[in-house]
Amino acid sequence: MAMARRTLLSSKNLYYNSSKYYSFSLNRGFASGSDEENDVVVIGGGPAGYVAAIKAAQLGLKTTCIDKRGTLGGTSVNVGSIPSKTLLHHSHLYHEATHSSANWFKFPSVEVDLPALMAQKDEVVSDLTKGIEGLFKKNKVNYVKGYGKFLSPSEIKVDTIDGGETVVKGKNIIIATGSDVKGLPGITIDEDKIVSSTGALALKKIPKKLVVIGAGGYIGLEIGCIWGRLGSEVTIVEFAPQIVPSMDGEVRRQFQRTLEKQKMKFMLKTKVLSVDNSGDGVKLTLEPAAGGDQTVLEGDVVLVSAGRTPFTVGLQLDKIGVETDKVGRILVNESFATTVPGVYAIGDVIPGPMLAHKAMKDGVACVECIAGKEGHLDYDMCPVVVYTHPEVASVGKTEEQVKALGVSYSVRKSPLVTNLSRAKAIYYAEGLLKILAEKETDKILGVHIMAPNAGDLIHEALKALQLGTSGEDLARAWF
Ligand code: FAD
Repeated sequence: MAMARRTLLSSKNLYYNSSKYYSFSLNRGFASGSDEENDVVVIGGGPAGYVAAIKAAQLGLKTTCIDKRGTLGGTSVNVGSIPSKTLLHHSHLYHEATHSSANWFKFPSVEVDLPALMAQKDEVVSDLTKGIEGLFKKNKVNYVKGYGKFLSPSEIKVDTIDGGETVVKGKNIIIATGSDVKGLPGITIDEDKIVSSTGALALKKIPKKLVVIGAGGYIGLEIGCIWGRLGSEVTIVEFAPQIVPSMDGEVRRQFQRTLEKQKMKFMLKTKVLSVDNSGDGVKLTLEPAAGGDQTVLEGDVVLVSAGRTPFTVGLQLDKIGVETDKVGRILVNESFATTVPGVYAIGDVIPGPMLAHKAMKDGVACVECIAGKEGHLDYDMCPVVVYTHPEVASVGKTEEQVKALGVSYSVRKSPLVTNLSRAKAIYYAEGLLKILAEKETDKILGVHIMAPNAGDLIHEALKALQLGTSGEDLARAWF
């Protein structure tokens, strides 16, 4: 059976899983070993694409991966997860040394050497991208550096980064072109004073004042924390009345209070009308979301963090008839098949959580489907971690989502402060563990954690969900 078995609970409505398209999941078979034609061609070498390519090669399929960046690893390794987590880790150590631990460790002085810190981050990125290239060689994945576009459902024209061009043919094509920064109308990102996450992870100076536009996702908050710990005064401007709406409401409110204690300022229900970068710094003209008097907010750097958008520019999807939804995400069925037979899509470019581990799992499951195996995915089992301090992690549904389902549910929770001895010992007592379960069966529906090591703990919750552990058993183990 070539169909991925996915239980799409919360994300069900996001999927193009109408049975009328299931017939498109049939692959076109495999190449007989000809030099020209591949069994699988992957466009995009990010977490979705490189994992799919390696998996395909490991399954014995002749595979080519095309990426335009010049280095593998996509957004995640080059300008996303990896650089941000590197800077989050080191900025946390600096903050510890200069704040709480400074009460009992006396350092002669602790200074930030920003060029050295950035060089270390760049080294991590470079090592990882080279590592993936090594895996390609080891697994005999053919790697073409260049910009791919469809000539037909089985032919990709590549404008190579050295100025040449070539055509790559494949029996099955996987689109893994990821996502890009979403801009805001009237605000031009110059990656100097008006930056995207990419520029914000490569600043040459610690800004005295950093303004972050957008707190709908975790990216702006994480980057705000990096620079806040290194000494910036950080103000978050958000149009909505709350930050990160996808987070469980109770956890979110506590999270915001914690960030405020860390001196992050929030201007919610606030609209940015314009950003002027003509002077030394930046001047933002703001207005209450509901209308009212305009104010001006000044900063040295402004980070535009208004979300990410699927990236399909230049692919010529319309030429072959691949359909997208109204926000540009490629529509796929449960086998990741698009509306064109033999063409698949995975990762950030399709509906679902825009996360690297989700993209990787898509890659494996999609290739398994192509190879006639059983791809298996369940987006309800996809944990999310925000790497602030404390971390916030969750898996499954929020209390708001459970309520919306109309099921009767129970809530078990324990604030960290109740585990006072450990909290006292590590000098940190802010946070909570929260388990949502169906009342009748005690089946766990969602787990939410705010704690210094929430990102590690959430895997216990994931396992509990996967193994069908009851809410009571998990609570007994934890509380
Ligand atoms: P991408 O990583 O975007 O890769 C797509 C690749 O396709 C790119 O390399 C691009 O060059 C290539 N490409 C595009 N079009 C073409 C074309 N026509 N021809 C050839 N090549 C093409 N996720 C987490 O799970 N945890 C985190 O902590 C986390 N932190 C993040 C922090 C930041 C600042 C950002 C921006 C993202 C973060 N993410 C995180 C999200 C994660 O980076 C993405 O979910 C992940 O990279 C998606 O993988 P992908 O392979 O679908 O796409």
